[in-house]
Amino acid sequence: MRNITIAIDGYSSTGKSTIAKMVAKALGYIYVDSGAMYRAVTLYAIQNNFIDYSDFHVSDFLGELDKIKLEFRFNPGLGYSEIFLNGENVERAIRTMEVSNFVSQVAVIPEIRRRMVQLQHKMGENKAIVMDGRDIGTVVFPKAELKIFMTASPEIRAKRRFDELLSRGEKVSFDEVFRNVQERDHIDSNREDSPLIKANDAIEFDNSELSIKEQYQKVMRLVRMTIEDLE
Ligand code: C5P
Repeated sequence: MRNITIAIDGYSSTGKSTIAKMVAKALGYIYVDSGAMYRAVTLYAIQNNFIDYSDFHVSDFLGELDKIKLEFRFNPGLGYSEIFLNGENVERAIRTMEVSNFVSQVAVIPEIRRRMVQLQHKMGENKAIVMDGRDIGTVVFPKAELKIFMTASPEIRAKRRFDELLSRGEKVSFDEVFRNVQERDHIDSNREDSPLIKANDAIEFDNSELSIKEQYQKVMRLVRMTIEDLE
């Protein structure tokens, strides 16, 4: 079967990564969570005191970008890759509310985006990849054979994220999560460099009312149709 590139973009907490992981596993493709990369860079900025609730020392931070080494390592037990920041598995540490509160401010910076896109291009050079994010179908892989744009109502997205954080033992309120989801949507959609927008040739679907199984089946149908069309 011919290998393709699959780009899945959409708003925060639309469940992109859940579906992307399942699809990658079924196809034997690499899965890359590009949001994890921006989150890991943000974690570094927090840990090294470049950003807090009152300040963001952007130029000092940019001077240290060479010290940030990101890498995905496949975890056979889980069936997908986890992100490592300077050799440390940060898969859990990047999912906190604190990182979510700062990540969109970090992701607006063009120098950071350029670096992430460079790494993403390298990971996708042999196709057979599913990557999810905000700018994958528009900027990272504009020639991806299949582009999907996922949406869901902000309330449903916040509820999903809230449940996920609670299950991990984080003490957060629904309102806090709801505000964060809306704030990230706003910053991600309005930034100058690579804003979150649907690519013209992306297939949009609202998954508010769809189960995970239904979403998975829908995406797999699209994959099969795309590959058939190419053959
Ligand atoms: O996908 P996730 O919600 O983990 O992404 C976290 C943040 O990283 C987003 O809100 C966005 O600010 C940034 N991001 C981005 N471009 C991507 C992926 C994520 O700007 N391709």
